[in-house]
Parts: sequence; structure tokens; C-alpha cells
Amino acid sequence: MKLINNLLIGIIPFFPKSFIKIFASPYIAGITDDEMLSTVANLNQEGYDVAIDILGEHVNTEKEATEITNRYSKLYDEISSRALNANLSIKLTHIGQDLGYDVVKNNLMILTEKAKEHKNFLRLDMENSPYTSETIKLYKEALELYDNVGIVLQAYMHRSISDMDSLSNASFNCRVCKGIYIENKDIVYDDYQKIRENYIELVKMGLERGSYIGIASHDEYLINYLYEWIKNNSIPKTQYEFQVLHGVPMKKTLEKLLKEGNKIRIYVPYGDNWYDYSVRRLKENPKMAGYIISNIVKRIFYFYK
Ligand SMILES: Cc1cc2nc3c(=O)[nH]c(=O)nc-3n(C[C@H](O)[C@H](O)[C@H](O)COP(=O)(O)OP(=O)(O)OC[C@H]3O[C@@H](n4cnc5c(N)ncnc54)[C@H](O)[C@@H]3O)c2cc1C
Repeated sequence: MKLINNLLIGIIPFFPKSFIKIFASPYIAGITDDEMLSTVANLNQEGYDVAIDILGEHVNTEKEATEITNRYSKLYDEISSRALNANLSIKLTHIGQDLGYDVVKNNLMILTEKAKEHKNFLRLDMENSPYTSETIKLYKEALELYDNVGIVLQAYMHRSISDMDSLSNASFNCRVCKGIYIENKDIVYDDYQKIRENYIELVKMGLERGSYIGIASHDEYLINYLYEWIKNNSIPKTQYEFQVLHGVPMKKTLEKLLKEGNKIRIYVPYGDNWYDYSVRRLKENPKMAGYIISNIVKRIFYFYK
């Protein structure tokens, strides 16, 4: 499987962008703000909350970092004026984390202030391990300005349990995901089952301490296991939400969870950076190529989104 995935990644640059777009399009909610915002409105109508992400990361200049910050700022205005049920999920390297602490902090504070002005929420995505400690530090700085800011912990990281232990309390808002970046084996769990176990432990620890947890996964085993645990432990529905990436075909599961009164947030990435970003992610994590192919097969044979 690994060989096939790597082969697929190797041939991608030989296909025209328009062809690759056919495969990427279920996962990308448009190129322009208007395209994305109409996708968000449709998802809201179907009962889903949304987290919006402008595709991209690692900008090279302060000008680019400011432009992205301004685009995100305007999105808060759009969300309010269109009365959408959506918040923002940003990557700190996209607003200048590689350009120095002061640059990224300044841009983060602009967005935190804007989230506060609109009584909205700001999530800091978690990127690869060189950024973890600084992301947590910046998250704490943002919290001093406004308490409706959240972070992400990755179940494959050894350190995440200790991070959850030190961060979680009744006002902590954390997305738990498995982790997407390829990391050195010394700092992450490599075993699929071990990552699931750690994921479960992280979610339970957060919920038991009264934190708000975003259960971000498409792993049906994890979703079902945690949902049963939540029900058996009478965790209120106001203390958690399920989160999935736009376009991953799991309509039946999502509809069932919605019907039972659970909050589901769809992570909606968009923007003109879709090609470079998608190819980079695929190269970093060839497993994604296999996911995309199997999702196409699911769509064809099971007729679900
Ligand atoms: C809302 C959300 C936010 C995230 N934020 C972050 C973050 O901030 N930092 C970070 O490191 N990672 C993030 N991730 C990615 C996450 O860490 C995992 O890499 C990814 O979700 C795959 O793990 P899984 O739990 O879905 O389980 P897996 O076992 O990897 O996948 C289960 C099944 O889901 C499907 N699937 C999973 N991922 C994809 C995909 N990308 N495209 C198509 N199908 C897929 C496949 O059918 C697969 O068989 C986020 C994921 C979600 C859902």
C-alpha cells in the first residue's frame, strides 16, 4: 500500500492542475471567499457548524503575514454580517510564526481582538513539533486578552498527555486529533492502536476535568467508542463536539450524531493556495493518497458524500 501511495504522489506533478482539482475538489470549499461562504451557509442549513481555514502555511514575508491576518479579520466581519454559524481555525506559521515571535504575536493579537469584538471563537491549529511549545505559549498569551480561544493536541505526540494534564480545566477548549505531520519516531507513537489509546485517554482526561473537547477524527471506531463513553458518563452535550474535514465521506455517521442532538463542526479549508498546499500535504503524508482513492470508491459505490 505504501508503495502504491508513493507511486501516486510521484506521478501527481505530471498531471494538469485541472485534473488534480477533480480529486481535490470534494475537500476544498472553493477558491474565493464567496464560494466558501456559500458552502458554509449550506452546511449551516444542514445543521452543521463550521471552522474556516484559509489554505496555506509558512509565509516568507511580513507583508504576506499581514495580508493573511487581514483576510482572516475580514472573515470575522463576514461571518457576523451573514449570521453564519462558523469560527476560524488558523495556522500560526500562516500569520508569520517563522518570522519571529513579535510578528506572529502581533498578528495573533489582532485576530484575538477581532474574535472578541464579534464574540466569536479562534482556534490555533497544531503544526509540526518544532512549533508545539511556542504555539502553546502564544495560545496562553491570546487567552489573556480573550478567553474564547482554543488549541489542538495531537494524540500521536508523547508529550500531549502531559500538555493536556497541565492545560485542562473547566475553561480549556481543545481539539484532539491524531496528528498529520511526519515526525521523528522518538517523539511520537507509531503504532495505530497505541495512537487510538492515547487519543481516548486525552479526550477522557479533558472531559473529566470539565474542558470543552473537539473530537476531530474520521475513525469510526474512535467516534463510536468515545460517544458511548460520553453517554455512559453523562457528559453534557454542551461540553463536546465532533469535528470532521469537509468532503470526507461519512454522511451516515454524521447524520446519526446530528439527529441525536450532537454538535458537529465541519473544517472547511479554501483558497487559491489549494494546489501547493494539497500536494505538499500528500508528499508529507502519502497515506492521504490512499484515503483519497478509497473515498472516491466509497462515493461511487455507496452514493454518499
Ligand atoms: C477537524 C480536523 C482538524 C484537524 N486539525 C489538525 C491539526 O491542527 N493538526 C494536525 O496535526 N492534524 C489535524 N488534523 C488531522 C488529523 O490529525 C489526522 O491526520 C486526520 O484526521 C486523520 O486521522 P483520523 O482520526 O481521521 O483517523 P485515520 O485512521 O487516519 O482515518 C480514518 C479514515 O478517515 C478517512 N480520512 C482521514 N483523513 C482523511 C483525509 N485527510 N482525507 C480523506 N479521508 C481521510 C479515511 O477514510 C480513513 O480511513 C485534523 C483533522 C480534523 C478532522
